[in-house]
Amino acid sequence: MKTQINKYSNNFIYNIINEDFKKNKCSLLHTRFPPEPNGYLHIGHAKSICLNFELASLYNGYCNLRFDDTNPVKENIKYINAIINDITWLGYKWNKKIYYSSEYFSELYKYAKELIKKNLAYVDQLTKKQIREYRGTLVIPGKNSPYRNRSIEENLQLFKEMKKGYFNPGEACLRAKIDMSSPNIIMRDPVLYRVIFEKHHQTKHQWCIYPMYDFAHCISDSIEGITHSFCTLEFQDNKCLYNWILENTSVLNRPKQYEFARLNLKYSILSKRKIKILIEKKIINDWDDPRIQTISGLRRKGYTPSSIRKFCEKIGVTKQNNLIEFSMLEYCIRNELNENAIRTMAVLEPIKLYLYNIDDNYQENFIVPNHPKKPELGNHEITFTNTIYIEREDFKEKYENNYKRLKIGQEIRLRYSYIIKAEKIEKDKYGNIIQIICFCDLNTLGKKPINRKNPSVIHWISVKNSFSSEFRLYEKLFNIHNPEQEQNFLSFLNPNSMIIKHGFIEKQISEKIKKHINDIKNKNINLFFQFERVGYFCIDLIDSKKNKLIFNRTVSLRDTWNLKKQLI
Ligand code: ATP
Ligand code: MG
Repeated sequence: MKTQINKYSNNFIYNIINEDFKKNKCSLLHTRFPPEPNGYLHIGHAKSICLNFELASLYNGYCNLRFDDTNPVKENIKYINAIINDITWLGYKWNKKIYYSSEYFSELYKYAKELIKKNLAYVDQLTKKQIREYRGTLVIPGKNSPYRNRSIEENLQLFKEMKKGYFNPGEACLRAKIDMSSPNIIMRDPVLYRVIFEKHHQTKHQWCIYPMYDFAHCISDSIEGITHSFCTLEFQDNKCLYNWILENTSVLNRPKQYEFARLNLKYSILSKRKIKILIEKKIINDWDDPRIQTISGLRRKGYTPSSIRKFCEKIGVTKQNNLIEFSMLEYCIRNELNENAIRTMAVLEPIKLYLYNIDDNYQENFIVPNHPKKPELGNHEITFTNTIYIEREDFKEKYENNYKRLKIGQEIRLRYSYIIKAEKIEKDKYGNIIQIICFCDLNTLGKKPINRKNPSVIHWISVKNSFSSEFRLYEKLFNIHNPEQEQNFLSFLNPNSMIIKHGFIEKQISEKIKKHINDIKNKNINLFFQFERVGYFCIDLIDSKKNKLIFNRTVSLRDTWNLKKQLI
């Protein structure tokens, strides 16, 4: 992928790097994206991915992809594969190979022993609960553990025993010996190593002690020659520890950590822990549910890599935490689909309409453009007959004065076709409308009506030319701005976050899709449509089959959210 110059060149991080280059503190920028493989990537991760990869590219440097895989309890190879797939899909190429913190377990062990030998680390045998109690709070200083003053020899011996599996999880851990009364709680003898008996996806059963994230992260950065280590603001307090570890071990490089504001998106949950709860409780189907803003969910909903990159570029990188409007994300994909999506007609909630002055075997084909402004996108054919489907909401028996769509006695134009006039309705014995009976003015194809007003236009599909399809309409999953902030976020779910409709698309379009469906699925290349007057849609690549097409609404035609918000 080619990077446009200047896209990422107006933020505070760019300025820091520039200064470092000017002062010769750095001659080759080396960044990294370091996911923990304990879930799928989300739009917040995309912000960090774009920042790290784009900056590296801007400076002709490198960006590593490194899995910070220090907790086998929560990690899974399935997440590794999904993360690799998502980053590739977003269009980024990492430096050389995929790195894993677990590759450095031997080196990390060596550095841990180095700290013990310098009397800067000790094996503690307080319980987890006691460690928490001894740590103190923001206003109460911590207390030293009774195990803090063990001799170096004893600590080396015990650490070796931890490694050999002599201790059960929670019975012993290695802690840095820093300062239990430090105003920064992170510095109150943080745990560096713990015992975990779990098979690791990379190192299998080789280890039963695992470094903590804070210990592994900075040393991994250093081993890889990372020059600038970017993370989100929550890690500001961890920076002291990041630097302390690098200063007190014999590592060769000392990368610098810089923090930026994490992405928070309105109506969204981005924490992996909370997304897992939504899946476990079957509120959403999986990590790729189009209602959550994981990369795979957005992809399934119809977002393109470029629309996500555009979004990340637009929100910028600052040090102020804020809540980004959801409509900003929608704006990015809508803009793109407006340029590229094929226009066609679909009826999502059909009602039949019969044109009584047209013969049963009459058929007329119209060639219609795939895009109103882009002839290069070609045409397709639609069929007109005397029985068609229109959208249920385009006809009203009872209506208000300003109602402009179809009603008895009123004319309307069928898109690309004739003007018709509704004359009566046929109902079943329960009072449901079976069909609307209309007159078709055959003098109005491509012409203004004579001596009367131009009517509104509605979309339609000939029954003969229709292919039944499922449409999934997505709304926000939560009905409050900031569900992430709420402890009981599950109480703010929108019960109508997915609405399923059974309707029709044009047969010519369905034939084209069916011909390529396996190809489309295998290559993960979606097709994007604007169903006229309805919205932008894509094919659901997971659930669609040759004989059953399912469409996901990517985004509405207009920003209805801002409108709705103003109405509330
Ligand atoms: P979560 O809070 O969603 O569980 P995490 O921070 O634990 O995410 P990691 O896998 O550790 O997930 O994240 C990898 C990188 O992505 C980190 O550098 C992290 O700072 C960054 N990141 C995670 N969430 C966001 C976000 N919302 N906005 C920007 N960057 C993020
Ligand atoms: Mg994390």
